[in-house]
Amino acid sequence: MYRTHTCGELRMSHIGQEVRLSGWVQKSRDLGGMTFIDLRDRYGITQLAFNMDTHKDLCERARKLGREYVIQARGKVIERSSKNKNIPTGEIEIEVQDFTILNASKTPPFTIVDDTDGGEELRMKYRYLDLRRNPLKEKLQLRHKLALETRKYLDQQDFMEIETPYLIKSTPEGARDFVVPSRMHPGQFYALPQSPQTFKQLLMVAGYDRYFQIVKCFRDEDLRADRQPEFTQIDCEMSFVERDDVLEIFEGLVKYLFKKIKGIELEDFPHMEYDEAMRLYGSDKPDLRFDMHFVELNDVVKNKGFKIFDEAELVIGINAKGCASFSRKQLDKLTKFVKTPQVGAQGMVYVKYNEDGSFKSSVDKFYSQEDLALWAEKFEAEKGDLFLILSGETAKVRYQLNRLRLELAEQLQLAKPDDYKPLWIVNFPLLEWDEETQRHHAMHHPFTSPVAEDMDTLKDQPGEVKANAYDMVINGIEIGGGSIRIHDRELQKQMFDALGFTEEEAREQFGFLMNAFEYGAPPHGGIALGFDRLAALFGGTDSIRDYIAFPKNNAGRDMMIDSPSPIAIEQLDELGLQLKK
Ligand code: ASP
Repeated sequence: MYRTHTCGELRMSHIGQEVRLSGWVQKSRDLGGMTFIDLRDRYGITQLAFNMDTHKDLCERARKLGREYVIQARGKVIERSSKNKNIPTGEIEIEVQDFTILNASKTPPFTIVDDTDGGEELRMKYRYLDLRRNPLKEKLQLRHKLALETRKYLDQQDFMEIETPYLIKSTPEGARDFVVPSRMHPGQFYALPQSPQTFKQLLMVAGYDRYFQIVKCFRDEDLRADRQPEFTQIDCEMSFVERDDVLEIFEGLVKYLFKKIKGIELEDFPHMEYDEAMRLYGSDKPDLRFDMHFVELNDVVKNKGFKIFDEAELVIGINAKGCASFSRKQLDKLTKFVKTPQVGAQGMVYVKYNEDGSFKSSVDKFYSQEDLALWAEKFEAEKGDLFLILSGETAKVRYQLNRLRLELAEQLQLAKPDDYKPLWIVNFPLLEWDEETQRHHAMHHPFTSPVAEDMDTLKDQPGEVKANAYDMVINGIEIGGGSIRIHDRELQKQMFDALGFTEEEAREQFGFLMNAFEYGAPPHGGIALGFDRLAALFGGTDSIRDYIAFPKNNAGRDMMIDSPSPIAIEQLDELGLQLKK
């Protein structure tokens, strides 16, 4: 028997027991008469004590053990003379009677401690060593718990977990597919699913009216910080439902998880129209932990001789409460921020509403104290507030002010870490215009249904149509999204028309789904939540990578197994990817 207990298990109540433990040598301390070894496994650390007086040979052997050696020790649980209050096993130690080395270890390239000295790259390369550290272990444990509780909740709600294939044909999510060459069919390829979208809809046709799957998805997108080419979704689909049925179940899931795992009771999630989110926050994923909503100023700023505002399509600002005391330097820093290429504004106007009731602005030349008092009314301002104002073309200036709003919130530390502000964004546009290809794209995917009121508009003004689609947003992070689907053939045809697909093209890509829909497709809809992201949110960080056991780096590489990598000529030949010489 390798062990009777784990290294996290023994307490005062075990005193006097003969035990066996197996684990890794965390560190050893040699105090002359005594040698101590911290033995570690997944469950914790237990101190092994070797006595030079009574067990000289053993003690000498123990002194030779290197870090990360795997050993098995046998001994008696005794009370420690100097207790360690910081660990659960800190009141006891093992008086070792014998031990064996189960395996030696090279000196690890970084120390396996909570605050390690290992750089990011090195830790990625030796991920299996990094995973021995507590911070990563705790994150994976949290992920496991989230998955388990998700399954419990959905099972209680009659959902069935059904696996769908990974070797499929192109999916409709709009990113690039990863493809897999077929050896048996040279020149032909499978695609890895960007999501199980089409299959889950087929499952609805098949009558499995509540499906879910915690599933890998693959998207060959341009890499951005913290985006993984393969990631995990909690993917779901339901039949005989309307939008609010879907929202209720998945709001319920997230509330359940918060309660179970963090002990937090979330309030009901407010619903916000996409248009309103854009108008008030310039973003379809507003962080509502702080307010600073946008205030539109067109009707109080125009025709006073300030050309920049006169020519702007939209003049908008935010009220930074209590920030009138900002120094020149702080304001310059914000101006510099909005002018960075990533934000792209030409400049920023500020107005200080001083404590004495006067105004001081960067546009005093054009606007009188009375003018500025009107602005203050718009901002519903109090003395001591600061208004920051941008102007320009509507979509651009909203984007820029969103960036400024978030930057300012960060500088002022307005977002409290343990505050959670979820909401639903509803009624997204159905289509978005793509300048490059000069045609409409489905904003969500081509099976998303328009909202009932807009069904008739699809033909004549497709750009105006709202989709019956929704996103779940928490603290400025898009946790997931979904939609009610089109289950009517005629409507699907209209949708393909609006997307500029010919009947033939649509058949070629989605024929299997369109065929299936001719055999009694029920009304259905669904959602997918980003599982890695949800885990990171629960863990209180932005970085999803830490919540994935073996992630890729920012360049999409697996540093440990060194992938992607070239393959042998023979393999290429076999796959029909290269002509034989
Ligand atoms: N398949 C969609 C996605 O991955 C989610 C859904 O519509 O259910 O975003």
